[in-house]
Amino acid sequence: MIDEYKHLQELIRQHDPNADLSLVEKAYRLSKVAHEGQTRVSGDPYIVHPVAVACILAEMDMDAATIAAGILHDTIEDTFYEYAQLKETFSEEIADLVDGVTKLTKIPYTSKQEEQAENFRKMFLAMAKDIRVIIIKLADRLHNMRTLKFKPKEKQVETARETQEIYAPLAHRLGMHRIKWELEDLSFRYLDDKSYYDLVEKIAKKRREREEYIQRIIEEVHDKAVEMGIEAQIEGRAKHLYSIHQKMEKQQKSIEQIYDLFAIRLIVSSVKDCYAILGLVHELYKPMPGRFKDYISMPKPNMYQSLHSTLIGPEGIPFEVQIRTAEMHHIAEVGIAAHWQYKQGGKGDQDVAEKLNWLRQLVDWQKDTHDADQFMENLKIDLFTDEVFVFTPKGDVKNLKAGSTPIDFAYSIHSAIGNRMIGAKVNGRIVNLDFELKNGDIVEVITSSSSNGPSRDWLKIAKTSQAKNKINQWYKKEKRDENVEHGHDLFDKEIKKSGYTAQQLVKAEWLEPIMRKFSIHTMDDLYAGMALGALSAAKVVSKLKEEYRHSLTPEEQTHLLLEHIEKESKKKKKIVPESGVVVKGIDNCLVRLSRCCNPVPGDDIVGYITRGRGVSVHRADCSNVKNNLIDGDARLIDVSWYKSTTHTVAYLAEITIKSHDRSGLLIEITNVIGESRIPLRAINARTGKDLVAIMHLTLEITHAEQLDRIINRISSIRDVYEISRNR
Ligand code: MN
Repeated sequence: MIDEYKHLQELIRQHDPNADLSLVEKAYRLSKVAHEGQTRVSGDPYIVHPVAVACILAEMDMDAATIAAGILHDTIEDTFYEYAQLKETFSEEIADLVDGVTKLTKIPYTSKQEEQAENFRKMFLAMAKDIRVIIIKLADRLHNMRTLKFKPKEKQVETARETQEIYAPLAHRLGMHRIKWELEDLSFRYLDDKSYYDLVEKIAKKRREREEYIQRIIEEVHDKAVEMGIEAQIEGRAKHLYSIHQKMEKQQKSIEQIYDLFAIRLIVSSVKDCYAILGLVHELYKPMPGRFKDYISMPKPNMYQSLHSTLIGPEGIPFEVQIRTAEMHHIAEVGIAAHWQYKQGGKGDQDVAEKLNWLRQLVDWQKDTHDADQFMENLKIDLFTDEVFVFTPKGDVKNLKAGSTPIDFAYSIHSAIGNRMIGAKVNGRIVNLDFELKNGDIVEVITSSSSNGPSRDWLKIAKTSQAKNKINQWYKKEKRDENVEHGHDLFDKEIKKSGYTAQQLVKAEWLEPIMRKFSIHTMDDLYAGMALGALSAAKVVSKLKEEYRHSLTPEEQTHLLLEHIEKESKKKKKIVPESGVVVKGIDNCLVRLSRCCNPVPGDDIVGYITRGRGVSVHRADCSNVKNNLIDGDARLIDVSWYKSTTHTVAYLAEITIKSHDRSGLLIEITNVIGESRIPLRAINARTGKDLVAIMHLTLEITHAEQLDRIINRISSIRDVYEISRNR
């Protein structure tokens, strides 16, 4: 049994003398066999490393599963053991932890600018799923840093940089200060050895002086505490080198000006004692104004709790004091790791609100924390389910919405890349453009300068609004000329259909309010808008028509109407209506609808064979028929209306309207006819001396019912008192 393993057992028993070590033992035996024959660069057998990692975890009082996973953490990566075997031998939990660490190991990292480093940290968290994976990974990194001296120089710098940029900040975010400090100091040593050893020397020179001084304070405080009956553990606090270095650099201070070089920490058993001993210290020494901080009543977002004060010690040298309970101290040292304890049910039942504080510290990374509760309950990182982190071929990380595709990726780089994309590779393999990207994928966009631009289908595939907007933009811009032209055509056609001319309708002052309503500034934009369906050409023209009519005097309006009717009727002349009457027994004969009664389909009709003029058709109720005024030679013949659903024939019907004369009446009547979509063929109006207006209207109708309806509507107009169909 190696010494490291004995040490591990001791560490676990320190926290819990009765701890069940069987799981850890089993992990150790398997890992030892798996790594048999492997050695580290230092010459040690490989098993020393995973057990040392487990020791770091045990020092943080991590749970048994995490420690076992720590011992096994390199088995999937470096030995013949696979996920399935670990799952079978141990549990899904342990296999998942080891698998998670293995995945993190595979993330390639070369130093990047700060923004990129932040994305890497996020990706670590996103890929970890269970936060214990990060904790194991940090312990792994710590041991590798401790043994970095065996590696070649180049590797040292590379590893140290990665540690400083990724791992130490991660440890900081997770409140794991003990690991963070050590990682920072070790990185500092390999990245800037001159400054590091300079500082070590400077501090060493002062060491004796400092230690004596601190010892004197410790004794004074200790005596006073005993006197007051407060039990306190008092220690001199070694400030870690990197933070002194940073302070000196940032604040341009010499080592003499760094107060917390002289620092003590008081650990007491209750919050009450924290304040009691603070009072005691403030009595013994003069506090420096503005340097007292109460992180007990106002904990830091990462749950850090302590009282801080700076005091003027003997000989006028300032020193710092930190006061906290043992539990606060544990959290200050191990941070989020405090949530897993070797023995379940110990002090692990912190209330939920307290646990949530941990998440507030993650707020930097994630705004939406509504899953926070469940997150802590499941000991899972569930914070990034709506994000996915992928690599560019150069190793930059892109942060996209979950479910994103290569199209989203391409447009997140540049719209020109997206617009010229013809395909994509993920991890070196060609994929479909709707391929769903996963964390850690390396995505390469294949572009071609001869690409015709994005396909409209991409709008359905893309998940990010950024990509969709850019595709839409492309369409708007690229197709603009086409759209303007098409819109112009639509507008012209609509004007032609209206029966008016562009000269009459297109006036800047009428268009202006319409364009303003749609935030359109130029005629080209207006046309493009019509082509894209943002606004309807028909509606614009109808609005212009209205404006035009309003601009006319009543006389002009009437004139216009008559002109319009004339034009329409001329147009109609080409469509000579067929009679629509079927003459029994005769297929092809000349049929004439009589002018005396103007029969329309639906009317009861009778037919007479006339000499030389074919069949003359009258309404059955025609007065000429009733009064036998038809030519005596004429012979009655059976006729009926031809019934067709596919083919309607128009007939002319004349009506006479009598009303009290008033202005605007004619317009009202023609409006009603217009709304009913009945073509008005002729109009003739006059007003008698008795102020009775008589109007004769000729309407083109397709069925008698249609005529009945329009007669009804006209008769409901105010001042119309008689309306009749001409016989
Ligand atoms: Mn390792």
